[in-house]
Amino acid sequence: MNVTEEIKRGAGKEKNQSGDYLIRAITGDRQIRAIAVKTTGLVEKARQIHRTSPLASAALGRALSGALMVASFLKSGKEISLTFQGDGPLKRVVAEADLNGNVRGYVKNSGANLPMDQEGKLAVSRGIGRGTLIVRKDLGLKEPYEGQVPLISGEIGEDLTYYFTKSEQTPSSVGVGVLVNADLSIAAAGGFLIQLFPEAEEQAISRLENNIKAIKSVSSLIEQGMSPEELLTEVLKGLKFRIMESKEVQYSCRCSRERVAALLAGLDPEEINQMLKEQGRVEVGCHFCDKSYEFSREEIEKLELGSDN
Ligand SMILES: [Zn+2]
Repeated sequence: MNVTEEIKRGAGKEKNQSGDYLIRAITGDRQIRAIAVKTTGLVEKARQIHRTSPLASAALGRALSGALMVASFLKSGKEISLTFQGDGPLKRVVAEADLNGNVRGYVKNSGANLPMDQEGKLAVSRGIGRGTLIVRKDLGLKEPYEGQVPLISGEIGEDLTYYFTKSEQTPSSVGVGVLVNADLSIAAAGGFLIQLFPEAEEQAISRLENNIKAIKSVSSLIEQGMSPEELLTEVLKGLKFRIMESKEVQYSCRCSRERVAALLAGLDPEEINQMLKEQGRVEVGCHFCDKSYEFSREEIEKLELGSDN
């Protein structure tokens, strides 16, 4: 592991401020593995960066929580991205996470709102609409792995459950939730992910199914003050488990001037010339953290020289 990178990551962390963390557990008989995460602080941070509507906060918060849990299955240092591409007013929800507990994301139309659904909940399903869930995993190979499944509900948790079952042939259950305060800040966010190992027995499976059925809303459990440990105690009721790992998670963007410059090199030169003509400079904003990068005419010329060599 690169030490400088570690320090950089550490500098971006807001330790102990948010209290967000993720735990990984396994049942005593090794039939089930489970993850739970509390993301209230980082979803609030995402809300402030993207100025999301309550509907967009809920969708993004669920996706961020899901991405962190999916990423915790990865091997060292790699990352995953989840893209919920739908025909609803939110248009697209993206979340990227790595094994170190860093996550970032955005909603294409972050101001979109819809009336509450019949149960008085935020209408995430309709907000995302019909479409596709795209899962990309950078496993350090030349080409990243990419899997796609149709969205079955647009609720995010159900869509991830379907993805694991259909695309990775791993029976899973994903529950994610976000509760928004009246002042639009985030009251609670988090989730759980349960996976069955091939040797899981019928008895454990049906107990798990009953437990999950009994949980109406993950948000409400977190809102009751439940920690990730307590959340798993609820989901894995009647099953013995031990916690293998506990780690802090945080909203963190890894964009940099160098990465943006590399993106510019891939753009149509005509487009860049147009921007230079109109504004005398090129300005590129990061989707994930709203940071803006400016390149002068001289810098652009230097970059183009670099790409010719
Ligand atoms: Zn950024």
